[in-house]
Amino acid sequence: MHNSLSKLAPADYVAEATRRAGQVDGLDPAGRLRPLDSVGIIGAGTMGGGIAMNFATAGIPVVIVETRQEALERGLATVRRNYRNSADKGRFPQEEVEKRMARISASLELEALAGCDLVIEAVYENLDLKKQIFARLDAIVKPGAILATNTSALDVDAIASATGRPEDVIGLHFFSPANVMKLLEIVRAEHTQDDVVATSMDLARRIGKIAVLVGVCHGFVGNRMLAARREQANKLLFKGLAPWDIDEAIVGFGFKMGPYQMSDLAGLDIGWSSGAKTGNPIRDALCELDRRGQKTGAGYYDYDAGRNRLPSEVAARVIREVTGAEPASLPAEEIVERLMAPMINEAFRILEENKAQRPSDIDVVWLNGYGFPPGRGGPMYYADQLGAARILARMEELAAEDPAFAPAATLRRLATEGGSFLDLDLGGLRTGGKRQGETA
Ligand code: NAD
Repeated sequence: MHNSLSKLAPADYVAEATRRAGQVDGLDPAGRLRPLDSVGIIGAGTMGGGIAMNFATAGIPVVIVETRQEALERGLATVRRNYRNSADKGRFPQEEVEKRMARISASLELEALAGCDLVIEAVYENLDLKKQIFARLDAIVKPGAILATNTSALDVDAIASATGRPEDVIGLHFFSPANVMKLLEIVRAEHTQDDVVATSMDLARRIGKIAVLVGVCHGFVGNRMLAARREQANKLLFKGLAPWDIDEAIVGFGFKMGPYQMSDLAGLDIGWSSGAKTGNPIRDALCELDRRGQKTGAGYYDYDAGRNRLPSEVAARVIREVTGAEPASLPAEEIVERLMAPMINEAFRILEENKAQRPSDIDVVWLNGYGFPPGRGGPMYYADQLGAARILARMEELAAEDPAFAPAATLRRLATEGGSFLDLDLGGLRTGGKRQGETA
């Protein structure tokens, strides 16, 4: 059965793409799942607390481990506050709040995770720290447990190599806020066993997430494409465009927010520390002024007490100082084109490198994790509608000015040979040179 997805209207396409994302090629449908009745979480920060809520809500007991009592208490207080807010809005009865909280226990010792069926690490984004923790887990957690990392971008193979059981290690990349966002990128590492993949896919269903299986590469599918878009957005700032012009164009396209609204929400200081040069001098300069996003009341935008967003003269001045660019403008369509092109290119590279199962999975990632407008189907569907020839021609024009736009080989091939973006099969997800499910 091979229906062309490009014939479907956006809503039908999204439904079909979502259904397909739930399928893992090459898995034995009769394969057994590992038991999953208790979960441990390491880190009670932004992500750890949100991740814990998914399990407590689904009736699965959770143990959260922290290094400091106050971090633990702060994390649990946030979870309780989130539950109360939802109960106050009438989403569930008030007594549910304490029932759910009772499923969450807390500890300052990793040893408390010994009996868990699944452990999810959600500490700072630091490879050495994560490797140290996985080495310790290896000695503590019972055999057969799944050991997962919530890293946003780091090398899951390197993390797995810190254990003597890399076959049990997988990435479970939740999105923020983790109790709300539907997407779960499940990162299959080089040695991850089939039953760990199957159990993780099933778990996603149990906690109401939409899972997409991806391979190990920096940023996986979603953040990798986001980074490509961000790079081009920053180049527009260097041409004299304002962050709000760029955001307005992206929101006009149908996204819930633009790249700079998103940065302000997430925090500009992720991966930054005082005096650091992160390769993004505008961000560094804003952080040095303590403009770290919504949480400090200022970032690319200014925020009033009600967190209403206003274009910022200070940010505009900082950007001008860093870039030396005179104020400029571009039509919204051209801004969108310049930000979509690198995403489409990166999507092709992801498929060429066999880091995703199928093109439509990439759309499912962007629809559920990054607010891509559903009426446009996702970046691959959108590109398919525009057509490879048209996109290639435009990318070649842009590449004459900036080699970062150099078209991916597969785009060139589709433009000359024809065929739909959505029906492409470049080999699916591969680990160790093999398509998943293939044996030597
Ligand atoms: P955070 O700083 O809010 O929380 C990290 C927590 O880990 C802190 O409470 C800290 O006390 C705790 N911690 C540090 N070392 C520890 C240890 N050895 N044992 C137990 N606890 C320890 O960070 P976060 O935003 O929740 O991010 C956590 C992970 O999730 C990172 O890998 C990040 O890249 C990833 N992630 C973050 C987001 C996001 O938007 N914030 C989204 C997806 C994934």
